[in-house]
Amino acid sequence: MTTDIDAFLNSELSAWPMADENFKRIRDSFTDGNRTVISDGDSAWQTAKLFVNHRRASITAKTDAASIAARRCFLCPANRPEFQSSQRWRDYEILINPYPLASTHLTIPSINHCQQSIEGRIPDMAALAVELEGMCVFYNGPRCGASAPDHLHFQAVSREAVANFFNDALPKEEINNPSTHTTNSGRVKLYSCTASPFPFFIIEAQDTVKLETMIMKIVSALKAIQSESEEEPMMNIAMRYDSTSRLITTFVIPRAKHRPECYGQENGQMLVSPATIEMLGTIVCSRRDDFDRLNLSEANRILREVGLNKDEFRKVIGKL
Ligand SMILES: [Zn+2]
Repeated sequence: MTTDIDAFLNSELSAWPMADENFKRIRDSFTDGNRTVISDGDSAWQTAKLFVNHRRASITAKTDAASIAARRCFLCPANRPEFQSSQRWRDYEILINPYPLASTHLTIPSINHCQQSIEGRIPDMAALAVELEGMCVFYNGPRCGASAPDHLHFQAVSREAVANFFNDALPKEEINNPSTHTTNSGRVKLYSCTASPFPFFIIEAQDTVKLETMIMKIVSALKAIQSESEEEPMMNIAMRYDSTSRLITTFVIPRAKHRPECYGQENGQMLVSPATIEMLGTIVCSRRDDFDRLNLSEANRILREVGLNKDEFRKVIGKL
């Protein structure tokens, strides 16, 4: 499939000059100084920043119900550029993302226009991770970075853009909770990451049913600590597959906020709107000035602010 994706990407780019230019820009960012690691070399968790002005519309997207209702859904086939094509995969379509954050960046919308919601979709997401082995498949919750919260979709990026996610040595601690005990048939392990500026879950599973059970337990626990809201808890989810170990590794990243206090266009503010890519360690800046002044302590402060705090995270573990 990966080879097919390369061919598909190349054929799309040859037909779509704007996307081609954006992909060139993102590929150049690894060498031209527009992508910089800002954590020090000894840090197990890598924090980086990326300057890319083609993300401005996504970063400033209005995702409230009224704004969404007033615009045409850009993931529905009728509203896409006519030269954009897709590859059918199950009840989804694989598209290239014309505003990429990685050398390969895909958007995978459902063929139906239906709400962004993870319930019942974990088996699809896991199958997609298997299909796209070597890539990071991710889900932005409807209130955590999805710019089309009204149209179910996943995204996938190539591994070079998400170093922490592919770091097998990322420090983590197993969560031994009676309700999450491993059974003999298929391995499922639950960890918390101990190296990141904010806490999140890491799940290793071979069995998709057990993986889904574990993720939905976390979702229920998050709901339980968020009073009165029936909405999906704020979170980002990332998945990858390794055929040698047959393990699906999943990061479930609970969120406290969509955007940080410093978000805005005014002097001293920053146009930074964290979604999965940011929570995996790379802060995307759409203005040169924000990129230049973003330092490690500010970057980590933003990530801590929009992530869940440690006390709340412990409460979630207690509810599992
Ligand atoms: Zn749609």
